[in-house]
Amino acid sequence: MQESSKKEAKLIGIAMVVGLGLGLALYFSGYSDLVAYIKPIADIFIRLLKMVIVPLVFSSIFMAMINLGTPEALGAMGRKAVGYYFLTTVVAVLIGLIFVNIIQPGVGADLGGAGLQNLSEHMADKVSSQEGLFQTIIGVLVSAIPTNPVGSLATSEVLQIILFAMFFGVVALYHPKNSKPVVSIMRSVEHMSLALTHGVMKLAPLGIFVLMVDVMAKSGFDAIVSLSKYIVTVVAGLGCHALILLFIASWRAKKSPFQIIKDVAAPLLTAFSTSSSAATLPITMTAVEENLGVRRDTAKFVLPLGATINMDGTALYESVAAIFIAQAYGIDLSIGQQVVIFMTASLAAIGAAAIPGAGLITMSIVLGAVGLPLEGIGLILAVDRFLDMFRTTVNVFGDCVGTIVVDSMMPPESFKADSGEVEEDPVFT
Ligand code: ASP
Repeated sequence: MQESSKKEAKLIGIAMVVGLGLGLALYFSGYSDLVAYIKPIADIFIRLLKMVIVPLVFSSIFMAMINLGTPEALGAMGRKAVGYYFLTTVVAVLIGLIFVNIIQPGVGADLGGAGLQNLSEHMADKVSSQEGLFQTIIGVLVSAIPTNPVGSLATSEVLQIILFAMFFGVVALYHPKNSKPVVSIMRSVEHMSLALTHGVMKLAPLGIFVLMVDVMAKSGFDAIVSLSKYIVTVVAGLGCHALILLFIASWRAKKSPFQIIKDVAAPLLTAFSTSSSAATLPITMTAVEENLGVRRDTAKFVLPLGATINMDGTALYESVAAIFIAQAYGIDLSIGQQVVIFMTASLAAIGAAAIPGAGLITMSIVLGAVGLPLEGIGLILAVDRFLDMFRTTVNVFGDCVGTIVVDSMMPPESFKADSGEVEEDPVFT
């Protein structure tokens, strides 16, 4: 791990703790409004991160394709990645179901908050118009194919960008002579995007500090206390899943768990404070490529895909939340219904966007599948932003571990010698 990354992760950690303290102080002293004066710093930080996503993802996937050398190698990597996503998501949901059935946080819960009235108009519309599971999953698959790649780039449709970069990469492989200028431009774009990410990272401690102050100052501590049993269930389940992931990572990477945590500390802390796997993606990519010791081409391919469709934390959260709502309403769920929740929560997480609050919207698929009242979402709304921080961290950790696992399963001959190494740039590092 590079010295600069270590220093960065340490600074981010300190910024987070200080931000947390200041945010709570503002909340309890009644000065939460003051956050408005510093909030633009956090907005600038998130916008800068988002600015890097499109060039970074497009050029990385394209170059991964070129370096892998054959569509077959990409196929082998894709199958391993999807297998890993599937297995870990299923384990996450199972853990959620076990914890919520043992702790039973919803039994005797106050139904006062039930209803969609507290959701913003935009969210309430989205929740009520959420399609069923089949349509959602088919919708994700069909809409992954871009009709206008420039439009996809313009609107940051990550799945569409991934697919187009893959197609473009395959074509480039089969037409090496004609694609030579594009390949060299893409290599350049990739290196520049990584360098740009390093530049944006310089703002991370400040951005994360402000994000933490903001979240804590508006935390709604009363809601957190009154839903504490539910929060403990979600966080304990996520913690248990993270431990399993850590064990897998340490085994496959042959590194100590502490070293793994140090290596990915920056993306995990960023995920925690931004609640967005997508916004964290540039930081995840640089940390994994530079610290974890996996081959760059694995990271380039597995991370953008994982950030979009692999969400262990969200899947676990949705299973706990659905059963919590059933318990609160006094609805007894049969084993059959719990199996339906198990399946829908696993799949609904795929349909969730990698942005704050997305898991709450796809919750309606899970609730609808077993006939639970949509209004139950109102019960958990007050603490959703708070829990989003934890589930997004686990989502991002799951993507990092996925890269380690897939990389450890790829034979060395799958990679061409030239993997487009990124040179250290004196301006940004
Ligand atoms: N915020 C989560 C993410 O970006 C998605 C969710 O709401 O669960 O990974």
